[in-house]
Amino acid sequence: MSLDAEFERVSMPLENPFTISRGTQTAAENVVVRVTDEAGMTGVGGAAPSSHYGETADTVEAVMPDLLDAVERVGDPHALHAIESELRAVVEGNPAARCAVSIAVHDLAAKRLGVPLHRLWGLDPSDAPKTSFTIGLDDTDRVREKAADAVEAGHSVLKIKLGTVRDRELVDAVREAAPDARLRVDANEAWTPKEAVRKAEWLADRDVEFVEQPVPAENPEGLRYVYERSELPVAADESCVTAADVPAIADRCDIANLKLMKTGGLLEARRAIAAARAHGLEVMCGCMVESNASIAAAAQLAPLLDYADLDGSLLLAEDPYAGINLSDGEIRLAEQDRAGTGARPAEE
Ligand SMILES: [Mg+2]
Repeated sequence: MSLDAEFERVSMPLENPFTISRGTQTAAENVVVRVTDEAGMTGVGGAAPSSHYGETADTVEAVMPDLLDAVERVGDPHALHAIESELRAVVEGNPAARCAVSIAVHDLAAKRLGVPLHRLWGLDPSDAPKTSFTIGLDDTDRVREKAADAVEAGHSVLKIKLGTVRDRELVDAVREAAPDARLRVDANEAWTPKEAVRKAEWLADRDVEFVEQPVPAENPEGLRYVYERSELPVAADESCVTAADVPAIADRCDIANLKLMKTGGLLEARRAIAAARAHGLEVMCGCMVESNASIAAAAQLAPLLDYADLDGSLLLAEDPYAGINLSDGEIRLAEQDRAGTGARPAEE
């Protein structure tokens, strides 16, 4: 058996500038990996590096030749464990870069067996939660419009980015435009512990489901303070990067928000999900602003999740890859008629 691997950088403008408490993003730089077997069958995966975790498209491209050499050395696309541990041995850190390769190899392995990836894992495709659609920070009228557009597109689960002096106004605007939607909020570390507890109180009045990452990850005691006093469940995102972080957050939040690009691969993501379950946490899978080259893979995990936040491709003006159709938030795994992750060039 032999494998041939290559990569390509893709720059994708966003539909709208996307703002969170830390800053604004107008384009996403992803790196797409293709791994091809001797019969010419190709698996595809994507890296969506996040500067918050020290990665950029440049750092991904810098380590990619070593990662692809490692895959070609193992040579067997079904040796998923060997490949992921080899990737970790070759490149420490750089989880988004490793993740792209892991996804491409998983895609290829499932394609060779002729099954969707979730079938290879034995998951029930009818058991997928809906994904939320994220409303970034903006002026209040734009936020109201975006929420109305999302409802119009069929979304019934919205996630609102907060962390401003207008938090209450923004939530009220979304509630006005989407009176029946399930709402979640994400402060991206912007609140103090006391502020978070106070805000959770009025967010509960507006029927919000949970608050995500209320306080900075560097303040684990603050997270515990919020968890013990908050009227709403607390989700940890920036505080929970890999499976190894799960024990430390287990007694200071209700929900672990895992992302493929944080964990560094699909096997590692499944390990993190198992770790969170073992610690009695609920599980959410989030994403960066990502092409379907990687979102389609995250969608395969959906039956393992309580909450999905996989709208990364929906925020793009145009995605060069198609995947599982998530346009109204429904993750239709049961309708997936393609083997692998379902990712493919958009023009196909
Ligand atoms: Mg988050």
